[in-house]
Amino acid sequence: MPEGQFKQGIAGGRLSPEQYADNFADLHPPLDHHEALVESDRCYFCYDAPCMNACPTSIDIPLFIRQISTGNPIGSAKTIFDQNILGGMCARVCPTETLCEEVCVREVAEGKPVQIGRLQRYATDVAMAENKQFYKRPEPTGKTVAVVGAGPAGLAAAHRLARYGHEVTILEARPKAGGLNEYGIAAYKSVDNFAQAEVDYVTSIGGIDIQNGKALGRDYQLSDLTRNYDAVFLGMGLAGVNALRADGEEAQGVTNAVEFIAELRQASDLASLPVGRRVVVIGGGMTAIDAAVQSKLLGAEEVTICYRRGPEHMNASEFEQDLAAANGVIIRHWLQPKRVIADGGKVSAIELEYTAMDGDRLVGTGERLTLTADQVFKAIGQSFVPAALNGSGALLDLEAGRIKVDAEGRTSLPNVWAGGDCIFGGDDLTVSAVAQGRDAAESIHRALTSNGRA
Ligand SMILES: Cc1cc2nc3c(=O)[nH]c(=O)nc-3n(C[C@H](O)[C@H](O)[C@H](O)COP(=O)(O)OP(=O)(O)OC[C@H]3O[C@@H](n4cnc5c(N)ncnc54)[C@H](O)[C@@H]3O)c2cc1C
Ligand code: SF4
Repeated sequence: MPEGQFKQGIAGGRLSPEQYADNFADLHPPLDHHEALVESDRCYFCYDAPCMNACPTSIDIPLFIRQISTGNPIGSAKTIFDQNILGGMCARVCPTETLCEEVCVREVAEGKPVQIGRLQRYATDVAMAENKQFYKRPEPTGKTVAVVGAGPAGLAAAHRLARYGHEVTILEARPKAGGLNEYGIAAYKSVDNFAQAEVDYVTSIGGIDIQNGKALGRDYQLSDLTRNYDAVFLGMGLAGVNALRADGEEAQGVTNAVEFIAELRQASDLASLPVGRRVVVIGGGMTAIDAAVQSKLLGAEEVTICYRRGPEHMNASEFEQDLAAANGVIIRHWLQPKRVIADGGKVSAIELEYTAMDGDRLVGTGERLTLTADQVFKAIGQSFVPAALNGSGALLDLEAGRIKVDAEGRTSLPNVWAGGDCIFGGDDLTVSAVAQGRDAAESIHRALTSNGRA
């Protein structure tokens, strides 16, 4: 263990350059040609395949696996991209263990599913490496669509609209496109700048103009968009972070986990990224796991996740929980934060209370525990910030704090659709955002071509 690991407080440079490179290497290295053939041969090509029904984008999984097994990875990639143009990123980040691979008949029968995610990555990587384009933009229709947010939902919507010949302008608040693919997904799931390579691949169809640094609510209003475009798609994700509701949470060293991860994803030198020596992460979802694992990989000595319920209630899958444990992260359950203890304004410990179920209510037991910490990450969920929608005269209907849409993604305002994390009823996964963006684009296309204007 290098000396840097013992640096007091929040510090960078805890590891050697080789350790950083090793720690942040590809989580699931790609299959080579021979491995892909062998793995594809394990598929039974089931009729009424359960894997396909479990995929939110309904990719024809048995077909794309058969195409790999017959030596046709390019055809296989087309099968994937027909349904999911971000199939390359989904192959890297989908929790396949709770989606297609969970229901694979080989998982059910033998406890060893076909590695659908890795096969999907193999096929899409081959096509993207050859820059094989499957879709030609038809003659422009003259219809214009504004897409707010260049995340998975916005990109999927934009690509599907461009396939129909509509002119798409994506207005994105951040300096780079990709949404959480660029700023949120754990670094070891998306190496070699894959998010930007995918944005380039998706937009090379033409007819998609991405304008960065353009925030709805700051630089323009929703009413400007409905006036100037034939239709609008909102794919703004979740910009807010829930508070800990613990005394003293404003202490230096208490950080929003999503911001920490965004900084990590944009860092050109991981050694420059400060991390605590004793880190406590509050939360039980993917963000909590990612913040904890990446803190450990940056050289934190002790990392503990504290979650207020039991392991079976965590949003993070069993695979994610095992990944954390394998990296030396301690997960403690039935604990809720009560007080951040600071020394000279800087966090030095966190006091937590044990919890228990009282009927179907979670209650504090009164028993307390103090953990030493020089950094505390808040990872207790994100929220939709509707403020950006204000100023447009009419307000969109919300449900449980997110945008309310119908089965086609239509909002309560005419000509305005929405999809991805910002809508009510989703499951906050990349693949679901892609499905919702794609399906809203189909609805927009139907509306644009049925009566001239949406
Ligand atoms: C830390 C973390 C890790 C995750 N890991 C995984 C994972 O491993 N696997 C998985 O399936 N899912 C994962 N998710 C969830 C997944 O990233 C999201 O479900 C997905 O990105 C949602 O896509 P989206 O397009 O709706 O939103 P986003 O990806 O959030 O994109 C929204 C875009 O809109 C832009 N925007 C916001 N407000 C405005 C505005 N006012 N004006 C203009 N633009 C705006 C944002 O800058 C952003 O680019 C993770 C989420 C987090 C936070
Ligand atoms: S369920 Fe498994 S074996 Fe059946 S088609 Fe899907 S991947 Fe192949």
